[in-house]
Amino acid sequence: MRILVIEDEPKIAQAVKKGLELKGYAVDMVHDSDSGLSYAMDPDYDLIVLDRMLPGKMDGVELCGELRKNNISTPVIMLTARGTIGDRVEGLNSGADDYLVKPFSFDELIARVRALLRRPPVTVGSIVKVDDLSLNPQNYEVKRGSKEVKLSKKEFSLLEYLMHHEGQVITKEMIASHIWDEEADILPNTIEVYIGYLRNKIDRPFPKKKTLIHTLRGFGYKLST
Ligand code: CA
Repeated sequence: MRILVIEDEPKIAQAVKKGLELKGYAVDMVHDSDSGLSYAMDPDYDLIVLDRMLPGKMDGVELCGELRKNNISTPVIMLTARGTIGDRVEGLNSGADDYLVKPFSFDELIARVRALLRRPPVTVGSIVKVDDLSLNPQNYEVKRGSKEVKLSKKEFSLLEYLMHHEGQVITKEMIASHIWDEEADILPNTIEVYIGYLRNKIDRPFPKKKTLIHTLRGFGYKLST
């Protein structure tokens, strides 16, 4: 999952970026509302953390309103130093999905990020399931049947993305833009290599079970039963 952080205060921006990266998210960061808006218009972001008070032509509330006007529905968590009822209502009215008052605890931010990224169709509680493969984003536990599968952070992010899009064809470009941030150097075969790692952990050790990761030559990949 790829997250855009729009926050002008360098310390907070860095801390949020680092913390989210430690949880396995790909994070891009900008520091004013002008570049914030142009980045946020990119539909490849899965979530935006948006500071309310920003240098630039707009503040966070206006930026969010502008996004919604342009039919960008990426979930937005708004950060603000003020927490009055009026501010809260204004933030939510502009199309923000959630609201966090500074100073906030990082655990709370993560909990809200997770809640917004959770998508209903294939989830049981917060656990995502495809056939007998299950993935729990709370504790990073992945299981095929009852057998636990150990994944690296990148492998986990890739699998989570594929499972959220069960049955859909996912191109390498989609994977690159949702799992890696813009500064990452991705070689042409990086994604194949990671798909290979996943196969070796999810499919190959279970020859009697259904193969879940499929390659569609020239198109991309699909996770399905
Ligand atoms: Ca600010």
